[in-house]
Amino acid sequence: MAGSSDCFSPGFKPAPYWWEASPQEPDRQTPLPSSADVVVIGAGYTGLHAALQTARAGLDTVVVDAEAAGFGCSTRNGGQISTSVKPSFSVLKRRYGEDLAVRTLKEGQASLDHVADFVTTEKLDCDFGVVGRFHGAHTSGQYDKLARDCEARHPGFETGAWMVSRDRQRTELGTDAYHGGMVLPRHASLDPGKYHAGLLRVARSAGANIVGFCQVNDLKRTPQGFEVSTSKGTMRAGKVIVATNGYTGPLTPWQQRRVIPIGSYVIATEEIPADTMNRLFPTDRILSDTRKLVYYYRPSPDRKRILFGGRVSLQETDPRKSGPKLLAELVRLFPELAEIRISHSWAGIVAFTFDTLMHCGEDNNLFYAMGYCGSGVGMAGYLGSRVGKVAARVDKDLGAFGDIPFQTRPFYSGKPWFLGPSVAVYRLRDRLGI
Ligand SMILES: Cc1cc2nc3c(=O)[nH]c(=O)nc-3n(C[C@H](O)[C@H](O)[C@H](O)COP(=O)(O)OP(=O)(O)OC[C@H]3O[C@@H](n4cnc5c(N)ncnc54)[C@H](O)[C@@H]3O)c2cc1C
Repeated sequence: MAGSSDCFSPGFKPAPYWWEASPQEPDRQTPLPSSADVVVIGAGYTGLHAALQTARAGLDTVVVDAEAAGFGCSTRNGGQISTSVKPSFSVLKRRYGEDLAVRTLKEGQASLDHVADFVTTEKLDCDFGVVGRFHGAHTSGQYDKLARDCEARHPGFETGAWMVSRDRQRTELGTDAYHGGMVLPRHASLDPGKYHAGLLRVARSAGANIVGFCQVNDLKRTPQGFEVSTSKGTMRAGKVIVATNGYTGPLTPWQQRRVIPIGSYVIATEEIPADTMNRLFPTDRILSDTRKLVYYYRPSPDRKRILFGGRVSLQETDPRKSGPKLLAELVRLFPELAEIRISHSWAGIVAFTFDTLMHCGEDNNLFYAMGYCGSGVGMAGYLGSRVGKVAARVDKDLGAFGDIPFQTRPFYSGKPWFLGPSVAVYRLRDRLGI
């Protein structure tokens, strides 16, 4: 059944599984005010965390989103929380020197702490847990590389990681498809839909005015700040925060030229018997692997389903087409799931960058934070908060990601023509194990 179009369950939905417990808000018909101290564009984790800071600092704050608040990646992701920084210490040190490399990795750790502190302080009911990650090696060479990374710890950012050899792997995961792997015990998980819904409530109760179904079509500088033209009218704003990540468009061409929008795809399976789940997923850990085109997966918070994500097509595609391909990969890892069907299949657009790092900054009262490279559950809220605090002038420093230049490439306008060839090369490298 896996890989064929019969693999959808009768109630199949081409929509995020998370929307079952946390449906998208309908248009609340909130009128758009004529002015605000701060207008935030985008009501995902970045925008809402930024708005929370500006509203709490007493600034009149309006958040607008072209769709329902949370329509973007913030209610579509896998709910896996890591330190988010992809390049290793040695790569960062070579690029930026030791001081900035250390500061960058510390920001990654701070983002992990930030989400844990936030859900605890605000008492958010979002199935948050520090469950740890098992990162599987898809070749023996990758296992050796992981083992070297595990050894080469840099004082100041201990991950507490340990290696699990292939013969002990089934204590972590019911598959022999990996050559062992590494456990990262500090990584966490949550239900992204519930987290976003809780964040929305907290931002509203702090006084932020959140207006959904309100697309910003034009942004002009004026002597007093900005004129923001939207599908629901025009506003004056003293400051603007751009929080559009993978959905960044021609409205902000400077940012658009610096992010690479890429679709990421996920399926949820129908319910799986408890004994099978316990055999295949003996822990609640989140899972990923060493492939360039990484598969990321986990049990659902109620441990009844598997949520399995990755990139299975050269070009962007329909979730009805990506679903069967993802299921085929899931079954390759766990052959006993050959008869299982898909209940939900969906996609969202993440933002990669040319240096695989996230960035934030300010240009004369226009702020931005974006480019999370597919790892923004912790980092988007953390950088959103940082940007919000600087916009509210309660903090001066945007941190390491404000100090690293946000690069583009000649002739790149925001449309990644190179995506298909890049995915093909990565796929080949993954098959060859390099
Ligand atoms: C399938 C998938 C799985 C993922 N899994 C993980 C994971 O497990 N762990 C992890 O750390 N990260 C994951 N991510 C990435 C993570 O979800 C994102 O990095 C994070 O949600 C980004 O949040 P954001 O607020 O910056 O952007 P978004 O949540 O994408 O919000 C941007 C918003 O901007 C709005 N917008 C754009 N232009 C305009 C305009 N002109 N006017 C008004 N509004 C506008 C959009 O409508 C959108 O709602 C995943 C992403 C996807 C798609």
